[in-house]
Amino acid sequence: MPEALIATSNPASKVNLLGMTRAQLESYFDELGEKKFRAQQVMKWMHHQGVRDFQAMTNLGKALRDKLASCAEITPPEIESQQDSTDGTRKWAIKVDGGALVEAVLIPEGDRATLCVSSQVGCSLDCKFCSTGKQGFQRDLTSAEIIGQVWLAINSYDGWQAGNGRVVTNVVMMGMGEPLLNFDNVVSSMELMCDDLAYGLSKRKVTLSTSGVVPALDRLAELSDVSLAVSLHAPNDAIRNEIVPINRRYPIAKLLDSARAYIDAQTDKKRVVTIEYTLLAGVNDQVEHAHELAVLLKDYPCKINLIPFNDFPNSGYQRPSGNAVSRFWKVLMEAGFIVTVRTTRGDDIDAACGQLVGDVNDRTKRSERYRAQYEELE
Ligand code: SAH
Ligand code: SF4
Repeated sequence: MPEALIATSNPASKVNLLGMTRAQLESYFDELGEKKFRAQQVMKWMHHQGVRDFQAMTNLGKALRDKLASCAEITPPEIESQQDSTDGTRKWAIKVDGGALVEAVLIPEGDRATLCVSSQVGCSLDCKFCSTGKQGFQRDLTSAEIIGQVWLAINSYDGWQAGNGRVVTNVVMMGMGEPLLNFDNVVSSMELMCDDLAYGLSKRKVTLSTSGVVPALDRLAELSDVSLAVSLHAPNDAIRNEIVPINRRYPIAKLLDSARAYIDAQTDKKRVVTIEYTLLAGVNDQVEHAHELAVLLKDYPCKINLIPFNDFPNSGYQRPSGNAVSRFWKVLMEAGFIVTVRTTRGDDIDAACGQLVGDVNDRTKRSERYRAQYEELE
């Protein structure tokens, strides 16, 4: 059994079934001497119905229920606290094994509700404008802890549903951490997001955002076809080397090639890479940067999402003025790109965001950031 599947919360070494993919759960049931379809029944109970208690799984025989109760568990991470905004946004601080906190944010909008999930506690990549980067890396989340954020979001929404009858219609891997550095657990949890026996989301509606771990992105192309967002943030290597240090290892040309190969490998030929570009005043927000970006991305299959920097204490950066953002946007629009700009909306729960994850020293107004990232990711 891979380490990631071992129970995270129970030292008595019960196996946590929550993060197992269909294939993993079927082989687990096989090892127990049970038929595969039993695994499928259990998946439906835990993911569709939110049931954790094996005794409540009435279509399993008593002997199997007892066996599962003695050797397995269904354990999501714990909700440390929850905040609701008047606009319907709900944000959770989630306590994972060892006591660290990560965040998940659910943003309902019309007939969609997008959940932003974390993949690691902290991050090792040290992008200069990112508060998660500033806190350093603590550990990878297990697959159960990642899919557990979806489980918690759905099961804590008290019957609320988006237009199409679902609580979560989209998932973006844009919370804390670099998803491609927690490859296996992220791939397993995304598989569950898309599996009909779990959350049944279309692959277009699950988005992985990466700052550019190129070898892992190449590998992902062979295993997954979820939507892809690339955190570019600069029109050239000189600037990107400064603000996204992993660029020194995998420069822009390599990253863009790898991302193009990723979408080229997909059967749906209409798909594009979302280019994320956080605008930092005086660093990458000048008109000449926009022109340079337009040349860099000419004929590249992408749409561009501009995100004015969300400040946090001692960040060392500033958000550009509205005029600077408009000028940047205009250059790209006139060059023929699909460009979305998201300005920060002050909402009532963001004010306390820093306190919510005070233990992990993260002061970014993260739910603002999430909102900015994925409002247009459809
Ligand atoms: N590690 C992944 C995903 C998590 S970060 C990545 O870097 O892509 C999600 C997005 O938020 C990234 O585009 C990141 O660059 C951006 N971001 C981080 N801090 C920000 C800030 N303070 N203001 C605006 N965007 C920020
Ligand atoms: Fe990590 Fe992404 Fe933050 Fe960079 S922007 S430090 S990759 S979480």
